[in-house]
Amino acid sequence: MQHYKNLKVIQRDLAAAKITCAGLVDFYLSNIAQSQETNAYLEVFEEEARQKAKELDQKIANGEKLGRLHGMVIAIKDVICYKNHKISASSNILSNFESLFSSTAVERILLEDAIIIGRTSCDEFAMGSTNENSAFGVVRNFDNLDKVPGGSSGGSAVAVQANTCLAALGSDTGGSVRQPASFCNVIGFKPTYGRISRHGLIAYASSFDQIGTLTQSVEDAALLLEIMAGKDDFDGTNSSKSVPKYSEALQEVSSDKEKKRIAYFKEALENEGLDAEIQQKTKELLAKLQSEGHTVEAVSFPYLDYLVPTYYILTTAEASSNLSRYDGIHYGHRSKDAKNMEATYRNSRTEAFGEEVKRRIMLGTFVLSSGYYDAYYSKAQKVRRLIHDYTRNIFKNFDFILTPTTPTPAFDIGDKEYQDPVSMYLADIYTVQANLVGIPAVSVPLSHHSNGMSFGVQLMADKFEESELLKFGKKLTL
Ligand code: GLN
Repeated sequence: MQHYKNLKVIQRDLAAAKITCAGLVDFYLSNIAQSQETNAYLEVFEEEARQKAKELDQKIANGEKLGRLHGMVIAIKDVICYKNHKISASSNILSNFESLFSSTAVERILLEDAIIIGRTSCDEFAMGSTNENSAFGVVRNFDNLDKVPGGSSGGSAVAVQANTCLAALGSDTGGSVRQPASFCNVIGFKPTYGRISRHGLIAYASSFDQIGTLTQSVEDAALLLEIMAGKDDFDGTNSSKSVPKYSEALQEVSSDKEKKRIAYFKEALENEGLDAEIQQKTKELLAKLQSEGHTVEAVSFPYLDYLVPTYYILTTAEASSNLSRYDGIHYGHRSKDAKNMEATYRNSRTEAFGEEVKRRIMLGTFVLSSGYYDAYYSKAQKVRRLIHDYTRNIFKNFDFILTPTTPTPAFDIGDKEYQDPVSMYLADIYTVQANLVGIPAVSVPLSHHSNGMSFGVQLMADKFEESELLKFGKKLTL
């Protein structure tokens, strides 16, 4: 079977009876078996996927109406609820927990005949940048098994990279879809905050979290967005704005001659942590865009050094509150070694949360504590507002902001430098801005490093400008 990168091609071949859904599922299942050592999947829904494929093939044979995602085999990150299926956020604290309902995103893709093939590993509670923080083992990059896939949606990125599914859902709180996409040579897209309902997405930091996609074509990202986006009464932060036909907007891309205004941050490109080869390729891309007639201008961004601290103060504060529900009583793991209520809380949490999650809960509780609230939490909220206003203002004069997605290509598994949490946090420098501001962003593959690993380039656009963002993102992939 050929390596399909685009649902349209699959649907064309299904219609021409060149392939069947059953054949597709078998093919992906065999790729899963052949890439076992990546540890991308926590669970494969083998029988179910086969069954659903059979039903779809029957529908095709009967000439029945098909959903817009028929032929799409998709994996979902282990933080997105799927009714009657296990979900753990890659944490022991939720081991053996089953979803009682499906997330809105999953409900919507199922209604359009997507086939969900499995549940992918991630960093515990989506906290991390390497997928080494999973309670169920590290995930490995399929291009080089000694490298990390990035995180936290590392399993989803590898699932797509290893062609074990056409697309995957992830979640992005500070880059968790875009950063692994960059490390795994796929497309990672995070919509505007509130565009896709968070109902049924396990919360990490609720004012940052968004469901996003990992795909092999921008068209598939657009179609998935079109299907998952839109009003949902279960999420009060969800936008009721009408959902444009993102996928149709992409159709004219190759012929359109529209010139865009692109800003880049000098500080970001001259940042000392930026790998020289990534810097070089990003500059070459900017020069190429300019030579094609787009306006390309350096804009000053004085808050670069504040992005990561602001992000980590606010997300840990929100996490400490969100994760307080895992107390050994409501969900999952309960310590066998507790004689009263307080010991149940303390022991269950001590036994079942991983080190990084504990670090963040403690940091978040600290910044929210009465003596430090104003010094850290309130101040970070104010800085977030400054970053928000400054960034939105740039979009008065520009269509996009372009940055590298990541300062380096994928690091080695167990890399000493990144055992230090602060070094790891600093690697999020380019991705957290979109979440602090709530704007959409996409990472598309840019090039390969001399060490063989891929890296991407990131485009950000103003709120709800996904159509333009995806159109231009597609142009960059042509
Ligand atoms: N690496 C970032 C963090 O650890 C991003 C995580 C995410 O987007 N879920 O918080």
